[in-house]
Amino acid sequence: MERTLVLLKPDAIQRDLVGEIISRLERKGLKIAGLKLMTLSDELLREHYSHLVERPFFPEVKSFMQLTPVVALCLEGKGAVAVVRQTVGITNSREAAPGTIRGEFSMSMQANLIHCSDSLETAAVEVPRFFKPQEIFEYDDVQATYLYNSSERD
Ligand code: ADP
Repeated sequence: MERTLVLLKPDAIQRDLVGEIISRLERKGLKIAGLKLMTLSDELLREHYSHLVERPFFPEVKSFMQLTPVVALCLEGKGAVAVVRQTVGITNSREAAPGTIRGEFSMSMQANLIHCSDSLETAAVEVPRFFKPQEIFEYDDVQATYLYNSSERD
């Protein structure tokens, strides 16, 4: 099954939205393969946001991400990368579709509650960036029979 990385940002922590967001992702049918609270170093953030390092807003993004620990999640499911992106909504929360996490709970381009991998290739780099192999767990999902048909369960 596909895996993707999710970070619940400091605004999610301070606004008491961690439970709500995880609950939405769980109820969608995504399986939690990894979950932890962690602080993000300058080095890790420069690597994670390497596509933004030269942008004028990067210093603020970096300091925002260091205001509190973040919750890191590795989620698993059929097409998990695209499913999570769609569930989260577009970057600018003010324009994110109603029903999405950003569309329902956020007003900002920057303080948009959540990071999620944007492609299969990115997810393959981001999951090991945030999780050691022993922090990712494999276990039976007893709901699998009811979430997927047999051909979707590979
Ligand atoms: P996404 O998180 O939706 O994949 P990006 O990778 O483009 O979006 O940007 C990473 C994060 O940087 C965004 O989630 C947001 O917090 C912040 N960000 C992006 N663009 C801007 C901007 N123009 N102004 C302020 N913050 C921004």
